[in-house]
Amino acid sequence: MQFDILDHGFLRLVDFMGDDVAIVQAARVSFGQGSKGEKMDRKLIDYLIANRHETPFEQAIFKYHVKCPIFVARQWFRHRWSSFNEISARYTEMTDEFYLPETFRTQKSRNYRYNDLPDEVNERLRGKVESFYREMYQLYESLIAEGVAKEQARIVLPMGLYTQFYWTINARSLMNFLSLRLEIHAQKEIRLYAQAIEKIFREKLPWTYDAFEKYFLAKITVDEKN
Ligand SMILES: Cc1cc2nc3c(=O)[nH]c(=O)nc-3n(C[C@H](O)[C@H](O)[C@H](O)COP(=O)(O)OP(=O)(O)OC[C@H]3O[C@@H](n4cnc5c(N)ncnc54)[C@H](O)[C@@H]3O)c2cc1C
Repeated sequence: MQFDILDHGFLRLVDFMGDDVAIVQAARVSFGQGSKGEKMDRKLIDYLIANRHETPFEQAIFKYHVKCPIFVARQWFRHRWSSFNEISARYTEMTDEFYLPETFRTQKSRNYRYNDLPDEVNERLRGKVESFYREMYQLYESLIAEGVAKEQARIVLPMGLYTQFYWTINARSLMNFLSLRLEIHAQKEIRLYAQAIEKIFREKLPWTYDAFEKYFLAKITVDEKN
């Protein structure tokens, strides 16, 4: 399962372990019991989430391959209850892929609503940023051509550069990630990735997703537009 996100990014499910029944089995092991059929199992999942008995959700694990701009990765890496392995700009020459927003938005208002800048301003700024990216990348390449180590040459690369990482996270921590990063206060760019993760989550753990929607998502403000 892969989603193309932003202008050069993607999110791809590499591996997945577990299902809703595995979560139920883990919860019922306390009583030496397993699945009791969909109706009872769904009820148990609902109960577990409603009452914050969340450890059984650690039994389901997702592994993703993500390509996103560095500023998005910086926000993402704050989620410590998960594992990351990122491409090394010390050893790898970074490719010239930079995030160029379709539209620039104004500074947010108090209620986290943003407005797009007028078309003519937007186009002018896009052009400026694009040539800045081109210049910076030329400088990066020229430093490497002069013999500078990649680990130093990278200092001229901006936060809009794309990076890649593998990310492994259990369903409990993923629900925490989604409840924070689908929310309107999270930046639009990371929200787009969170929306793709949400779709995968719903497909892989539909019973858990229903309870998550009921107890977590219902409490947060989600905004599709911004
Ligand atoms: C809209 C938004 C704005 C943000 N702005 C900023 C900002 O300006 N500056 C900034 O630095 N960060 C910012 N953050 C990051 C935020 O503070 C969290 O670091 C990030 O959302 C990860 O959340 P988390 O700690 O719950 O996740 P994880 O690190 O995955 O932790 C999961 C859970 O484990 C527990 N836990 C993890 N580590 C500890 C610990 N050391 N001690 C006790 N319990 C722990 C907590 O219960 C935590 O909820 C922002 C996040 C959002 C969503």
